Amino acid sequence: MLELRNTTKKYEIGSFKQAALNGVDLAFKTREFVAVLGPSGSGKTTLLNLIGGLDRYDEGDLLIDGKSTREFSDQEWDSYRNHEIGFIFQNYNLISHISVLANVEIGLTLTGLSPEERRKRSEEVLGRVGLIDHIHKKPNQLSGGQMQRVAIARALVNDPEIILADEPTGAIDNETSRQIMELIQQIAKDKLVIMVTHDEAVAKGYANRIVSLSDGVVTDDTRPPEVTVPDNGALAFDKTSMSFLQALKLSFSNLKTKKFRTLITAIAGSIGIIGVALVLAIANGMNNEIDELERTTLAEFPLQIDPRPIDIDAMQGGPFERHMNEEDAAFDEEIIYPLEQEFGPPSTHTNDIDDDYMQHLEALDESLYNEMSISYDVNMNLLKDLGDDIINIDTNDIGFDSTLSDETFFEENYNLLAGDTPEGKSELLLIIDSQNRVDAELLEAIGLGAEEEIPFETMLEYDFHIAYPDDYYIQDDNTGRFAPVQDKDALIGEDTLELNITGIARLDEDAPGGFLTPGLKYHPDLEETYLERARTSDIGEAQLESDVSVITGLPLSESAKEALLKELGVDSTPAQIQIYPVDFSAKNTITDHLDAYNTDKEEEDEIRYTDIASIITELSGDIIDGISYVLVAFSAISLLVSSIMIGIITYVSVLERTREIGILRSLGARKRDILRVFNAETTIIGFTAGLFGVLIATGLTFPINRLIAYLVEDLENLASLPLFAAAGLILISIILTFTAGLIPSSIASRKDPVSALRVD
Ligand code: ADP
Ligand code: MG
Repeated sequence: MLELRNTTKKYEIGSFKQAALNGVDLAFKTREFVAVLGPSGSGKTTLLNLIGGLDRYDEGDLLIDGKSTREFSDQEWDSYRNHEIGFIFQNYNLISHISVLANVEIGLTLTGLSPEERRKRSEEVLGRVGLIDHIHKKPNQLSGGQMQRVAIARALVNDPEIILADEPTGAIDNETSRQIMELIQQIAKDKLVIMVTHDEAVAKGYANRIVSLSDGVVTDDTRPPEVTVPDNGALAFDKTSMSFLQALKLSFSNLKTKKFRTLITAIAGSIGIIGVALVLAIANGMNNEIDELERTTLAEFPLQIDPRPIDIDAMQGGPFERHMNEEDAAFDEEIIYPLEQEFGPPSTHTNDIDDDYMQHLEALDESLYNEMSISYDVNMNLLKDLGDDIINIDTNDIGFDSTLSDETFFEENYNLLAGDTPEGKSELLLIIDSQNRVDAELLEAIGLGAEEEIPFETMLEYDFHIAYPDDYYIQDDNTGRFAPVQDKDALIGEDTLELNITGIARLDEDAPGGFLTPGLKYHPDLEETYLERARTSDIGEAQLESDVSVITGLPLSESAKEALLKELGVDSTPAQIQIYPVDFSAKNTITDHLDAYNTDKEEEDEIRYTDIASIITELSGDIIDGISYVLVAFSAISLLVSSIMIGIITYVSVLERTREIGILRSLGARKRDILRVFNAETTIIGFTAGLFGVLIATGLTFPINRLIAYLVEDLENLASLPLFAAAGLILISIILTFTAGLIPSSIASRKDPVSALRVD
């Protein structure tokens, strides 16, 4: 039982309020066929829309089974429309991009029935209206009468109590009209049908009650029921809702009708994704390449324990910045300050290598490394016989270091150009630079002019002499001080060790890095022998005991004494240790062992090692990351632009689908369901754009890799997009387009259903 009480609806046009309905009192029985008759503009459609809950009355009330609807929520109106009302419109209001069957089913999709049940019921009603052969056609493939039958089927499919028909035959020819009217008359046998018409003949011919309307007031009612409205308590309808999957389906079928536009949108949306994906693919490839380098080529690079280990962070800051960043860096404009210059790689830590640490190193499994080379600060007495003179060579001038005793590492990274590698303490190796140069001071030291060009064979003929401390230093009986021997001729004849240059080598141009500076290199055995002799030498023993220099007689500070002892070779605390791992996993075991030493130590007592390989890879990794960030930022701009564009396209789609929104709302769809339909649409576009982007980028990596392989030797299949990055990008694309579509979607959901239906 339905009852309108003093119901009024006014429309505001400018400052003028026009009453479309003006105090209507009407009651309807559960089963009757009521025709609402009246001229155009008399308020017939307004009346139907109010009864159907599509529009809201301003004053008065609408009672359903005796319950007032004044306090109805939006949700309750939506349920009411979906369960109680079936609308039939003059212009059919079918959704053109889906099939006849889908048009009928759509009212059921909001009720939560199973797909099979929905289909069965829809086919049933389509059979009842005589359209079973046309269920797979699109609405525009049908005649007007047939379309109205679809609309009738859609109105019936939910089995509502009330059918509201607004001039259902207004656009149909007479003969077809008759058939439609008979169908409606049939329906009215067990439902309340309220039909609006301006055709008196139609009203009189089929309806069993005629309500006449004029200027928003009821002027006549042929058969008003006796109003007995029982109060049946609260009204309860099942809630309507559209699942996201259903919304996806609807949006998908809509997008299918606009294939070209969807394609263009998705491609445009994918451009940003392509950019980001390519940057990621190349960065990933380069990082992989570096990791691979670290695992293979660089794995045998030594771990180095230096007195002042390289501090990678300080290195990136640079010595200048470090100076400026010191806390007490405030200074007076007109005063000059000394700057403690540091040479070599920047360092913030001092390693105090002691016996304790050496024992810790000895505990290392020897099979983990090829070689552990230890070097000292000893300054050996190196002499050169120039024929007419015997000179002392300052070992610092000629790069006089221990050779790498790890043969494998040496062979892999250096090219032996002449002779052999040193095999004992009396053999020397000359390292020359990439253009076969050595320091001019070295050439001068060995008696060759700086300008000369020296053939390899000539170089291999040169020899030197090492004088052990006891032979080199003579103690003065009076002063007790030590001085270098005067008669070096005699010394060279008997008490020195002769050294010969036996080989010439150069760093391989493909080697990732080398540790031998150009100059003369000796075999580690030489150092060992020299240290042994130095420890037991007279000068050594004397200096150990004395706090003044036994050479100059001047007093020594503690650190100066320590340095002197090291220089003389008495204190054989290592200056530097290099460990050459056998492979990458051995290296990790070794670093774990080295780290273990520091676990319980104060920070200043830690002994830190330098992993040159990882410094190389970390630095390159940081550079690659830095470049990637910049490139990704650029691509992100195009991503943003395409998102905005997708937002606009969604808005256009909203405008185009205004009528569909009205239809869905008349069928009981909630605002949220409309929101869902459009969100589903942007989700599909976002997904497609993301997928396109990832696929196109993956496709592009092939020519890019060919190009890279062509430009850089040994760099094949560099760019590759990791799977998680691909998935992430698709997700980002969905999120972006979804977000961009939120504004137009919410505009769509807030559209007033009545005005939405009015749009053609
Ligand atoms: P009918 O269906 O009988 O032709 P309507 O119910 O559509 O009449 O309209 C009744 C009156 O209300 C008309 O004067 C119409 O112009 C006015 N009206 C209807 N809808 C609106 C609206 N959205 N805004 C302003 N006026 C409206
Ligand atoms: Mg009308």
